This record gives sequence, C-alpha cells and structure tokens, in this order.
Amino acid sequence: AAKSEGRGNFQFFSHAMNAATHERLLLESRLWQALEQGEFDLYLQPQVDLPSGTLVGAEALLRWRHPELGMVGPDRFVPIAEESGLILPLGEWVLQHAIGLLGRWQTLGLGHLRLAVNLSARQCQGKALLAQLDVLLAAAGVDPALLELEITESAAMQDPERSRALLQGLRARGIRVAIDDFGTGYSSLSYLKLFELDRIKIDRGFVKDIETDPNDAAIVSATIGLAHALGLDVIAEGVETVAQADFLKAHGCDEAQGYLFAPPMPAADFERAASAALDGPVQAVA
Ligand code: C2E
Ligand code: MG
Ligand code: MG
Ligand code: MG
Repeated sequence: AAKSEGRGNFQFFSHAMNAATHERLLLESRLWQALEQGEFDLYLQPQVDLPSGTLVGAEALLRWRHPELGMVGPDRFVPIAEESGLILPLGEWVLQHAIGLLGRWQTLGLGHLRLAVNLSARQCQGKALLAQLDVLLAAAGVDPALLELEITESAAMQDPERSRALLQGLRARGIRVAIDDFGTGYSSLSYLKLFELDRIKIDRGFVKDIETDPNDAAIVSATIGLAHALGLDVIAEGVETVAQADFLKAHGCDEAQGYLFAPPMPAADFERAASAALDGPVQAVA
C-alpha cells in the first residue's frame, strides 16, 4: 500500500521536480534494500610508492550496482546514506569486506599490500567503530598496520574531541590514519596538533593544475614540507599525468594514486595486476 501511495505522490510532484530530486528518490527508495541484496561492491585503486614506482596498496572505493541506473558512484549515494543512517550498516559492510580482502591477500602472496578505507562523519561520531574493528581484524587474522582509515578534516572537525579520542584508539591498535582531501575543509591547521595521524592525502583539486598554476604548485610543495616536518607521510590523489607525478616526486611526495597509474577496478583485477607487479614496477597495472 505504501508503495502505490508513494508512486501516486511521485506522479503528482513530477512536473515540479528537477532531475536531481528524481534521481535522489530513485536512489533513496532502494538504498536499504541494496545492502540486503548485495548490490554494493568495493573497487580498488592502486597506491604507488613514488621514488620506486612499486605498488604499495590500494584505496577501497564503494560502488553500487543499481538495477535501473547501472553503476552508481559514492558521491551520488553516500550523502543520502549519511542522512538516512544507512551509512552505519553500510560502513560496517565496507570494513568487513575490506578486512576480508586483506585476509585473502595473506594467502595470495600479497600480504605486503595495505588497504585504505574511507570513513564517514557518522562512523567517526558513533561508539561502535573500535569494537567492530577489533572483531573484524581478529577474525580475519590481519595485521592492523595493513589497514588505513581515511577521514576528511571536515568530518573530523564536527566533533574534534571525540575524533581525537577515536584516532588515538585507532593508532593504539596500530591502525593507520590519513587525512583525506587535505586542504579542502575550512578548518585551521591546529587540528594537525590535536590528532594523531600517519599521513596526509593531498586533494586532487591541488594536483590538477600543478604544472600551470603557481599557487597550486606552492600549496602542494608547502604541504609536503609541512607534513614531513610534522613526521607525517604524504600521498597525492588524482595524479593523471607524468608531469604531475614528476613534480610530486621532485618535491618529495611519498606516494601517489590516480588514473596515470590505474583507475579504481574490481578486486579480482587488482589482485591479478598486483600479482603481476610483484616482478616489477607498477606500470604493469595501467
Ligand atoms: P576520495 O576518498 O577523495 O576518493 C578519491 C576519488 O577520486 C574517487 O572517486 C576516485 O575514483 C577518484 N579518482 C581517483 N583517481 C583519479 C584521477 O586521476 N582523476 C580524477 N578526476 N579522479 C580520480 P569515487 O570513487 O567516485 O569516490 C568519491 C568519494 O566518495 C571518495 O572521495 C570518498 O570521499 C567517498 N567514498 C568512497 N568510498 C567510500 C566508502 O566506502 N565510505 C564512505 N563513507 N565514503 C566513500
Ligand atoms: Mg579517500
Ligand atoms: Mg580523497
Ligand atoms: Mg578528494
């Protein structure tokens, strides 16, 4: 009954509704069901050591195989999941799946590879995360140091005191912590003092015009210097050209990720490429 009623409402509003609202309804109405139906998947994007070009790990990026819309990226549904609360069970699914992959890699001769997972703001504020991680890592027999959690500065700064405690708990377990999309929030640098971190991830917005925009070049090289001065590692995201990679390398950036090396890909493809890359630099992946 609720379904036919919803359809009626949809008809009624459809004239005034813009395309974005229409899509939102299509996504929202299936989101909870999607988790039960197994419509989510994790794609993996390689992360590369810049000086040597070797593969060091991957970032797990969520995908939704929507039966009507096809493959849907997280920018379209994570905000909805965040608002509706589904992000908590979905985030737990992501962690379980990612840690399962790490466990699998131990048996495939890929036990040296790290996996980075994105955390949502709500996951950072909830109380369940540390206990979930303890259970999942123990069950999979995975070294916590192989797991990295990415948190944006805006998510971390929603409740700085709580985030500080969470990151401390993560680091106490040996789990790595990275600040994602560094430099795109509106927070001051003081949080770098407050939080225990392993590394900073330079947002692709700064990398994009690194060769042509002197301001971006200055921001990137200063960020690398700042991170290193604080004892943190740096990875750049969104690296698409050899010139960008060369700039980053010349300025001491530790690692990189981007279409130049490889796009996000299904786990099986990543595992195949990673096994092939055991014998040489990561060019083999692209
Ligand atoms: P992010 O964590 O900053 O991830 C990087 C995004 O840049 C990914 O988009 C990736 O596909 C894209 N990318 C990678 N290399 C390049 C490149 O060379 N050029 C360009 N133009 N783009 C590149 P994606 O997969 O659409 O993810 C978007 C955002 O969704 C992520 O941004 C992250 O904030 C969020 N997200 C992804 N997976 C999860 C998840 O499991 N949980 C949560 N809470 N958020 C997630
Ligand atoms: Mg990320
Ligand atoms: Mg990012
Ligand atoms: Mg980004």
